[in-house]
Amino acid sequence: MKKNILDRYPEYESTIGIEIHVQLKTKSKMFCSCQNKFGDRANINICPICSGHPGTLPVLNKKAVDFAIMAGLATNCKIAKTSTFARKHYMYPDLPKNFQITQDDKPICYEGYVTIKTSDEEEKKIRLIRIHMEEDAGKNIHGDQNESFVDLNRAGTPLLEIVSYPDIKNAYEAKTYLRQLHSIVQYLGISDADMEKGSFRADTNISVKKKKDEELGTRVELKNINSFKYIGQAIDYEVERQITLLEENGTVLQETRLWDTHNHKTLPMRKKEEAQDYRYFEEPDIPMLAIKSEQIEAIKKEIPELPDEKYIRLKNQYGVSNYEANILIDQREIADFFEASSQKCKYPKQVSNWILRDLLGYMKEHKLKLKDLKINPEKLAELVTVIEKGIINSKVASHKVFPSMMETGKYPSIIIQEQDLKQIGSKDDLEKIILDIIEKNPDNVQQYRSGKDKLFMFFVGQAMKETKGKGNPKLIQDLLKKHLK
Ligand SMILES: [Zn+2]
Repeated sequence: MKKNILDRYPEYESTIGIEIHVQLKTKSKMFCSCQNKFGDRANINICPICSGHPGTLPVLNKKAVDFAIMAGLATNCKIAKTSTFARKHYMYPDLPKNFQITQDDKPICYEGYVTIKTSDEEEKKIRLIRIHMEEDAGKNIHGDQNESFVDLNRAGTPLLEIVSYPDIKNAYEAKTYLRQLHSIVQYLGISDADMEKGSFRADTNISVKKKKDEELGTRVELKNINSFKYIGQAIDYEVERQITLLEENGTVLQETRLWDTHNHKTLPMRKKEEAQDYRYFEEPDIPMLAIKSEQIEAIKKEIPELPDEKYIRLKNQYGVSNYEANILIDQREIADFFEASSQKCKYPKQVSNWILRDLLGYMKEHKLKLKDLKINPEKLAELVTVIEKGIINSKVASHKVFPSMMETGKYPSIIIQEQDLKQIGSKDDLEKIILDIIEKNPDNVQQYRSGKDKLFMFFVGQAMKETKGKGNPKLIQDLLKKHLK
């Protein structure tokens, strides 16, 4: 169960707000036709617009606008009929124009919410202040000879910034909220949301105060943390650090901190003694963005089933538990895999067990994604079916057949044949053997039926002897019970 660092400090409470940057999966950049592509050779996907030459004019990417509206609709936001872009000024080598085009006081989406599950039964709404569009900066690369390089391939790629109200109370809620938004953008197909590659990044603002105090405490920002687990650990650490400081009559400084994954603590990155003046003003080169109701209606129709709806449907349609449904829906392709496999074999409960335990376990161990695996829904369905039919037992399945499937990509039936793993006695074969034993031992049957229960093990022993120890023990017992009644 979730542990809450604040349980140790009952007088205190923490207030957390999160800003998420989502890199959009459009073909081209936000304001030019350059390819929106990560990982290419430096400075090949650039043009005069995204490298900030004077006299160039930005043109807004329509797909990015559609994606922003889609994200807004999926998070219960209002969509602004008109919104504007603004210039946010700061000087940094990876920002060639010396300003970033973003949205200031008129964002495209505002006043939404995301529902998170705080336990099996409880839900909580985390309100969103806004979702706005902006362009990303380039990337500075620092060499080991004291030199630095700038790669502008990322400059001008489209981003959404999703800003929450400070409704989040602890690390668990923060992680749940982030996971929820992470699956929503993946379900919508608007972003790869790959945290390691930086296409889904969260900045977390944390302050603590005594419950009885009215005024909020000083806010510390946690930046550049690239996993949910580390964000949770960093929040817990930061809450405790701030409380300890206050208890010792110290002062919490307003600053940006990083998470040191090796030493498990936050470290100061830069002080923010006063709010930086970005000298915002309306971007004169991009006209006001007007959105028609028809456009919103058309986008509404494209929104697929979202995680919350899928959660309820998987439970109703396949009878999986809350816990199972929660893990299955976390990634859309896992949920799709589960459904495809369950429909093939009609044993959804077993399919879910295999996915939760073996498949996800394998992916985690080998750091692989589902699309990189050699297994498919049909192969897993076949595996479940051969176990259910008693052709192999579950031990052989998880120790021999499954690992071999993952390695070779072969169907279970082929592996069973090649490695001679077939359990001796299918259900039909075993039934024949058992009926034979019953026929040959009328006295024992008589005694068992008149109450000598201990004799049951005699029949099990006989059956195991007949199958040379390779019979399915569970099936043998079930069949004996059936026929000895
Ligand atoms: Zn360009």
